[in-house]
Amino acid sequence: MKAFEKNIRKVEPYVPGEQPQNKVIKLNTNENPYPPAPGVTAALEKLNTDRLRLYPDPAAEVLVKELADFYGVGKDQVFVGVGSDDVLSMCFLTFFNSEKPIIFPDITYSFYKVWADLYRIPYECKPVDEKFCIRKEDYYGENGGVIFPNPNAPTGLYLELEDVEDIIAHNPDVIVIVDEAYIDFAGRSALELIERYENLIVVQTFSKARSMAGMRIGYAISNPALIRYLNDAKYSFNSYTMNLTSLICGAEAVKDRAYFEEGIQKIICTREWSKEELKKLGFSCLDSRANFIFAAHPSYDAKELFEYLKTQNIYVRYWESERIRQYLRITVGTESEMREFFEVLKKYMAKGDHS
Ligand code: PMP
Repeated sequence: MKAFEKNIRKVEPYVPGEQPQNKVIKLNTNENPYPPAPGVTAALEKLNTDRLRLYPDPAAEVLVKELADFYGVGKDQVFVGVGSDDVLSMCFLTFFNSEKPIIFPDITYSFYKVWADLYRIPYECKPVDEKFCIRKEDYYGENGGVIFPNPNAPTGLYLELEDVEDIIAHNPDVIVIVDEAYIDFAGRSALELIERYENLIVVQTFSKARSMAGMRIGYAISNPALIRYLNDAKYSFNSYTMNLTSLICGAEAVKDRAYFEEGIQKIICTREWSKEELKKLGFSCLDSRANFIFAAHPSYDAKELFEYLKTQNIYVRYWESERIRQYLRITVGTESEMREFFEVLKKYMAKGDHS
């Protein structure tokens, strides 16, 4: 080993889902199968490229204002970043600086461990129960901070707001981050609690319900004091995280509430239908409230099925890790994509030569 090697910050990076460049049925990274709001297309067509000469607004005012109006909070309660991954990473850097371990579920978004390692934050994973549910009592003890997604990923299970509040209320001395990447498909948001708990940060994204994963926009909503800390960290890192195009398109997307709500209903409808279809085929299927389904079959090996689907140009997500290696995570596509998925699945099950 070279002498300088010991001073290099080494991390085991997060592994994102595949992004195949050929045409496939893509049910592997929880994108939305429908296009963004029509106003986004119009804004892109109108974009005056001369504006690209200049740096974008570091305060991201146009986007922050739309989000503040949409959620009925002050502009000083909104922080925006390059996808919620960027926002969450900033939150880890800013708020998790205790010697005590931060806590999160053992089965959850695998990026949490990576940020903790990257920033040298000690952490402890709390096992979800045998039904994959978060046990709120596990989050009562002393810790350096708390983070969990709601709904959780990759299970899709939603924790009722009363239980989320219970976790926040038991942790007044640390910051609690609720990662609501999938909340729009699920139920009540912890945003309702923002005014009551000064230790709460809610993080959401444009990548799922707003169909804009490619634009990379995420945001945190909290009280002005915590948002100020986040902005201080951001300005110490990169003042211009949000590019001009994202600011303009993001603002347009937020303006169209009707399109947003309609899109969510379509996904929920296809999700519920797909869950039933999976059950009819003998899958055990968690009651996902997100835009994906987490399912296992007692007679078929998940990894083999995952590989087979890929040969048929259908991409789903599989993890070779403890507790979940018999599960597939299937993003909810359009109804016609899901019908095609089920045809291929039935063909596989009919073959009958599985070991
Ligand atoms: N949180 C969770 C739980 C997620 O599943 C994802 C998507 N991979 C993210 C955050 C990040 O999404 P994005 O950076 O696209 O906003």
